[in-house]
Amino acid sequence: DLNWLTRQSACEWQIRPFGAMRVPGIIYGTEALVREMDDKVYEQVTNVATLPGIVKASHAMPDAHWGYGFPIGGVAAFDPDEGGIISAGGVGFDISCGVRTLITGLTTGEVEPVKERLADRLFQHVPAGVGSTGLLRLKPAEMDAMLTGGARWAVRQGYGRTADLERTEEQGCIAGAVPAAVSDRAKKRQQDEMGTLGSGNHYLEVQRVARLFNHQIAAAFGLREGDVVVSIHCGSRGLGHQIGTEFLKTMAVSAARYKIHVPDRELACAPIHSEVGQEYLGAMRAAMNCALANRQIITHLVRQAFAEVLPQADLNLLYDVSHNTCKIEDHVVDGVAKRVFVHRKGATRAFGPGHPDLPPPFRDIGQPVLIGGTMGTASYVLVGTREGMALAFGSACHGAGRNMSRHQALRQWQGRDVVKELGLRGIVIRSPSLRGVAEEAPGAYKDVTEVVQAADAARLAGTVARLEPMVCIKG
Ligand code: 5GP
Ligand code: MN
Ligand code: MN
Repeated sequence: DLNWLTRQSACEWQIRPFGAMRVPGIIYGTEALVREMDDKVYEQVTNVATLPGIVKASHAMPDAHWGYGFPIGGVAAFDPDEGGIISAGGVGFDISCGVRTLITGLTTGEVEPVKERLADRLFQHVPAGVGSTGLLRLKPAEMDAMLTGGARWAVRQGYGRTADLERTEEQGCIAGAVPAAVSDRAKKRQQDEMGTLGSGNHYLEVQRVARLFNHQIAAAFGLREGDVVVSIHCGSRGLGHQIGTEFLKTMAVSAARYKIHVPDRELACAPIHSEVGQEYLGAMRAAMNCALANRQIITHLVRQAFAEVLPQADLNLLYDVSHNTCKIEDHVVDGVAKRVFVHRKGATRAFGPGHPDLPPPFRDIGQPVLIGGTMGTASYVLVGTREGMALAFGSACHGAGRNMSRHQALRQWQGRDVVKELGLRGIVIRSPSLRGVAEEAPGAYKDVTEVVQAADAARLAGTVARLEPMVCIKG
């Protein structure tokens, strides 16, 4: 219902504060995208705007859809000095889920003739599916080292290269992780899940660079039309999920103690300065390191698989960026510099040119923004913009976003048919679960091109390249 919204520009819509809202709500999207978002998105954006210490606005990205408490595609920042909160539901269950894209140095012509064999090798090397286990078994001391060291730990263990780290958010390791804040149950769930993809929405995809939109930035990113790249989408597996589940419960119970009244139980949160808030922060950062280590190990496995089929390949990381996080960042809010806790749930960081946190290759141009689409349509690489820093704390959409539930998708598609149809279009699918494939049918998602165009039109990020799937390993 667009009556609730004031159109600010072609792709920006505002919910003026009413009731307990402390700040406005802002939804990014074309009119069609915003019209199609379910009412829950407005409700959730509005609810988030009532939380203590929120600054500027409660945002929803163009791919937003209903989530637990916060919408998926939600961005909100909180000021610790104004009673700001941290929320497990504002980060999401799959803590630090994210995408990394590798440049292969190969052309479509080299990969096309061997893609079936490549799919088999990738599927064999990278464990996929619910509850899949990897080759590693982490003992307690190793677990703690991993939770503290992230991708840096993984590289020290022989998974991948030091050069990968510079091209990973936080240089592969977020500071302030507290392994002791992670429950034994969470650690136990993770002890044999390192280097695994996980279920349905997670994927490992071989993609061709189908089109460039910004030749200068594409060149700086090392992307050429006709090149082949590999994208890995996964997160912190059982460990992150367990932490999310436990802290949602803890925060729901402690809210009364901290005198926090939320309009929806799912918005459970704790003051940043509180004991529960600090404990969650320590555990969440450990999970972030787990996700970074996981994608680093998978990178190593992907290199092994490529070496068996295409020994001339040299896989170099373009970038690794997470889309389920809460991070301390400096932003200018209403002309005032503030240190805030930015929650991005199903939203990627998209820092623009000049940001000091960006590594040298991206310092002057902005970071790569990696956006999934579907296994049957496309994915996109964007670049962070200067304007975006002032819009939604330097954030952008993280994918196409679902337009129907998994349940609805299961009623509409058969996994076998989806695999066959994609096969006829030259897209090779490997998955342990046909049910998972049906749940993730391309038609269950919004039009990724429209979502990306909306993000670009709003200047959240700028479009650089369109990637089209050749091989997809689905969890
Ligand atoms: P999420 O992190 O919310 O589970 O998923 C992020 C995005 O990944 C989704 O919004 C969707 O657009 C995208 N996605 C899901 N499955 C696939 C896939 O198999 N291939 C590609 N390229 N994107 C996918
Ligand atoms: Mn994800
Ligand atoms: Mn995930």
